[in-house]
Amino acid sequence: MPELPEVETLRQDLDKEVGGRKVKAVEVRAAKVVRRHRNRKEFSDRLLGRKLGTAARLGNLLLIGLDGGPETAALVIDLGPGGRLLKQRSAAPVDRQTDAVLSFSVGGDLRALDLGDQGELFLAGQEELEELAERWRAAIDPLADALAWQALGARLGARQEKLRALLMDPAFVAGIGPVYADEILWSGGLRWDRDSDSLTAQEVRRLHRAIQEVVQEAVRLRGVSVGDTPWLDLHGGKGEFEPQLSVYQRDGQPCRRCRTPLVLERLQRGQTTYYCPKCQS
Ligand SMILES: [Zn+2]
Repeated sequence: MPELPEVETLRQDLDKEVGGRKVKAVEVRAAKVVRRHRNRKEFSDRLLGRKLGTAARLGNLLLIGLDGGPETAALVIDLGPGGRLLKQRSAAPVDRQTDAVLSFSVGGDLRALDLGDQGELFLAGQEELEELAERWRAAIDPLADALAWQALGARLGARQEKLRALLMDPAFVAGIGPVYADEILWSGGLRWDRDSDSLTAQEVRRLHRAIQEVVQEAVRLRGVSVGDTPWLDLHGGKGEFEPQLSVYQRDGQPCRRCRTPLVLERLQRGQTTYYCPKCQS
């Protein structure tokens, strides 16, 4: 599942690989992925002949500017839980799971795969873009916001939730899922089930640092590709953060900090969490 570092990696790739390219053909293979539009043709017609611009990110959404920056008009991509984007040669065989293909006039395709029922593509004008930005404004974006630890503390104190659930709430922090939630909590020395309003000032500072450090390091290493359907980058390559994982899927192995065997705990709704029973408190 793409979390914030993976989406940011895609943003960087898109900026390099599709920025400046003109859309020559659009093929929507699954109508449901353009469900905000009247039909596939309306989506395709609005995109044809447009030049893709800068790529931006709004939480977990990818925005590619049309005929310029993404402020006035953009192609918005929501990958959902398992979506992928691939930049391929136009001659490459089209994978069965492909939902949409954008072909460029100078060659090459941008393909969207596995968007499922939750992922989608849509074209947004200035007004819709402002609405989207408004919706994401409340959430902390560790890559975009210079949030002071005191402000994080105030936000934690205003909520009464278990820390891990809160980190994974997209209205609280953008783009944190099960992998980075566990990594951040280990890095901050905090247990998954701590109440968010029970942290001392020192613990808030540790959590604040952990959020920044884990996410930034994961972006530097181009994300992580784990699980049954691992996330892949725009070229189909894997992220390089996996060897840096401290707890995720390392149950039974010694904690990198205190050598205690790490624990896997099953939570509600089929969720699991990995943590150190000794140095996370
Ligand atoms: Zn430990």
